[in-house]
Amino acid sequence: MKIILATSNMGKVREIADIFKDEEVVPYGDLVSPFEIEENGADFASNALIKAREVYRKLPEKEGVLVLSDDSGISVPLLGGEPGIYSARYAGYGASDKDNLFKLAGELEKRGVKETPAFYTAAIALISPYGDYVVHGWMHGKVLNEPRGEGGFGYDPLFIPEGYDKTLGELEPEIKREISHRSKALELARPIVAMLRSLYE
Ligand code: IMP
Repeated sequence: MKIILATSNMGKVREIADIFKDEEVVPYGDLVSPFEIEENGADFASNALIKAREVYRKLPEKEGVLVLSDDSGISVPLLGGEPGIYSARYAGYGASDKDNLFKLAGELEKRGVKETPAFYTAAIALISPYGDYVVHGWMHGKVLNEPRGEGGFGYDPLFIPEGYDKTLGELEPEIKREISHRSKALELARPIVAMLRSLYE
């Protein structure tokens, strides 16, 4: 079975290919020309579905394929759930990971807060001729008003997972792989992928 990923992010492609070792995993750009997808859903699940459905719609051949997409972000209850689904563009359209990170640190600083609870969410959508599915994973912890460490990406240097005293910027990447929102969601996607494979055979 071919799993087509609705992403051009090679980091995500590697991470997902690693989990689904028995399947052929390819970025959608290998099959259709890359295009902009407007993520205008009201939550992570809707945005993941929008991306995956759009790629599925454009596929020239739908036999034996499964489109998988991921939408993720970080939510801070003190900020009313922000940045949430706007995580990738918190500091504005075209903002870099660093711009977004400093915008979040600045929001805490403004409120005189050194740390506050936060959580990452990942929604994984699966689109197949046999139906559409969405699963979620979460990673809880806290965010700081100052970055620590250079590892990970996005907001990782601000985020300390529950049960640790270092940020994801300081912790080994293997630890993040074990506990991350995306890994948890992908684990839940595994039985759906297995079920679809059995239908395709
Ligand atoms: P997406 O690629 O549209 O799902 O955007 C996700 C955004 O959420 C990224 O740009 C990051 O800012 C943030 N994000 C999601 N997952 C992570 C993570 O594991 N670490 C750090 N930032 C993340």
